[in-house]
Amino acid sequence: MFDYHVHPNYSIDAEGSIEQFCEIALERGLQEIAFTTHLDTDSEGDDCFVNVKGKRVDTRSSVWLEDYEASIKSADDEYKGRGLRVRLGVEVDYIQDIDGSLPERFYSTDFDIILGSVHLIDHIAITAEGRAENAFKKYSMEELGKKYYTHIMEAVESDLFDIIAHIDLYRRYGQSYYGDGVREIWKPYIAELVNTMKRHNVGFEVNTSPLRKGQTQPMPEVEIINALKDKGVSIITTGSDAHRPQDVGTGIARVIQLLRESGFPNISQFEKRTARNQSILQ
Ligand SMILES: [Zn+2]
Ligand SMILES: [Zn+2]
Repeated sequence: MFDYHVHPNYSIDAEGSIEQFCEIALERGLQEIAFTTHLDTDSEGDDCFVNVKGKRVDTRSSVWLEDYEASIKSADDEYKGRGLRVRLGVEVDYIQDIDGSLPERFYSTDFDIILGSVHLIDHIAITAEGRAENAFKKYSMEELGKKYYTHIMEAVESDLFDIIAHIDLYRRYGQSYYGDGVREIWKPYIAELVNTMKRHNVGFEVNTSPLRKGQTQPMPEVEIINALKDKGVSIITTGSDAHRPQDVGTGIARVIQLLRESGFPNISQFEKRTARNQSILQ
C-alpha cells in the first residue's frame, strides 16, 4: 500500500514530524509514503507559509525546499532498510499565472511526485469551513462547475503536475450548500478533462480523507472514478491527506478494494516523477 498524500508539520495546518509519520506508516504495513507539504501560491491569501524548525517561512522563497528535500532524503535513507520508501512530494495550490509564484528552487528540486490541487476560486478557499460559503454565494452551481473545472484543466495543461488531487473537492462543503446536484457538475467537462489528462500524461488521486469523516465515498466519488477509467485514464494514486500521524494510511486498503471493483488492474508507483504500474489484483 502507498500513501502518496501526507502533510508533515512543515504545513502550517499539520502536526507531527516526518519521523512520527514514518513510524506509524511502518506499523500499518505501508510500503511507501510521499510527503506532500502544501505549497500555497496565492499572494492574496494568508496561507503562504511553511514551518521550518519552528520558524515561519514564505512558501515562495527557496529556503524551505532545501531543508525539506534534505529531511525527506535522510528519512528515506533511514527507513528503506526497514521496508518503507519515503518519497519527496509537494501539493501545489494551482492558481492562474502560477509560474511567477513558485520558488525558484521548485524547478530544481528532485521531486518524486507533484500533486496539483485547486483549493481556491477567486482567491477564496473552498476547502475551509466558514470561507467556502463566501465563494459559493457568488456563483450558481453551474458557474462553480465551470470555474472549478476550467482551473483543473489549466492545472493539467500547465505540465507542472503528475497527479490532480481530490478532483471533486468542492463536494466537501458544496454539498450542504447546493444540495446533491453539485455531485453532477463534473459531467459536462469529463470528456475534455480526460483528453487533456491523457495528452499531458497526468493522473488522478483517490483521496481517502472523507472516509475518516464518516462518509462512504472517497474523493473523487466512485462515479467519477469509473468515468475516468472508462475513458482511459490509467495513472492513479492513493492518498490519505493525513495532517497528523495517526491518520496516515487510513482508508487506503478500502480504496484499493474499490479500485479493484471498478476494474483497475493497477495503481501507480512514483519515483522521480515517473509512474510505474503496480498490480492490485489478488
Ligand atoms: Zn488539498
Ligand atoms: Zn492535502
